[in-house]
Amino acid sequence: MTVHIDNMTRVFDSPNADRIVAVDELSLTIEDGEFLTLVGPSGCGKTTTLRCVAGLDTPTAGTIRVDDRDVTELPPQQRDVALLFQDIALYPHMSVRKNMEYGLKIAGVPEDERREHVAEAAALLQIGDQLDKMPASLSGGQQQRVALGRSLVRDPSVFLFDEPMSDLDAKLKRELRPVVQRITDEIGCPVLYVTHDQEEAMTMSDRIAIMDDGELQQAGSPKNVYSEPTNDFVGEFIGQPAMEFFDARVESANGTAAVSLGEHTVSLPATAAELEGYVDGPVRVGVRPQQIGIGDPAEGIEAEHVLDEPLGDETHSIFETEFGDVTVVTHADFDGDAETDYGLVLDESATQLFDPDSGVRIH
Ligand code: ATP
Repeated sequence: MTVHIDNMTRVFDSPNADRIVAVDELSLTIEDGEFLTLVGPSGCGKTTTLRCVAGLDTPTAGTIRVDDRDVTELPPQQRDVALLFQDIALYPHMSVRKNMEYGLKIAGVPEDERREHVAEAAALLQIGDQLDKMPASLSGGQQQRVALGRSLVRDPSVFLFDEPMSDLDAKLKRELRPVVQRITDEIGCPVLYVTHDQEEAMTMSDRIAIMDDGELQQAGSPKNVYSEPTNDFVGEFIGQPAMEFFDARVESANGTAAVSLGEHTVSLPATAAELEGYVDGPVRVGVRPQQIGIGDPAEGIEAEHVLDEPLGDETHSIFETEFGDVTVVTHADFDGDAETDYGLVLDESATQLFDPDSGVRIH
């Protein structure tokens, strides 16, 4: 099965504001067996997209197809999709086993077959010993496994997840991520997963689609969107801590290019010809906090140390500069001093350049 979203737009009427374009001409394909994650800030249109694929909402324009079948107007029960929400919603008066087999029972599947499906799913989810318990006696993570199991036993054609882990603590999330991956691999159907947690997106997905304001910004592998963001929005959204940006000017001498950041100049791994149209003009320089070194003021952008956030294996150090506060990933034992003058040294080979108006990456 392959899910095709073609030119999909969803507009909501709002009584006291202009129309809200929740999703704007979105085209995206989720291949068979592919785990595709939709990420983006709150209100960017992720859930609306997922609801349209599930059949819980209908696009204003555009189509949704599963293989060659146009499902745009079909109700959810005719789409064979499994949907898992943040709200776990197990039946409290039924045992784990009964919760898991309920959908099959309604579908008229005989009892011995149901038992078999439930046993298989429970083994995959490592909840075989919990089947006779009631939901209230399980932890949040175990409850979410049961909810996963309930979807799994139905062997759906498409698996949809809407922030299924956002209520779980960090440890449970880490435990559940590989479980979700194993389950979805096992089913081998297209998976559309919605989250605003970019770490979840990076660790679980085959591909990530980043949305902003209803529009798709970029879709690519986690590595691709991290190392080659299509624009400054993606550069800033993907990666932890967020990419740092500096307003600069492009300069050229003898065919080589450099950017001047105030008093400081950084030569670039680009020729002046490659930056045609930008030479002697403004540009936005983006650098990841992992690629900023600390030297003395003669070596880089003058900076005053503000604070350190020790994280165990590394420290996030914040410096005040003429470009605003800049976060730098420093060594675990770095201990900044407010009295010392520092210089922030950008790794030349890791700088990315963005158009100052459109935000599009130019190099
Ligand atoms: P979040 O991460 O906060 O869940 P999201 O990316 O999933 O956000 P959506 O829930 O898809 O975003 O909402 C996109 C936009 O559409 C928002 O501006 C939202 O207010 C609006 N919207 C969503 N559903 C409706 C509705 N039923 N009526 C009116 N506006 C809506």
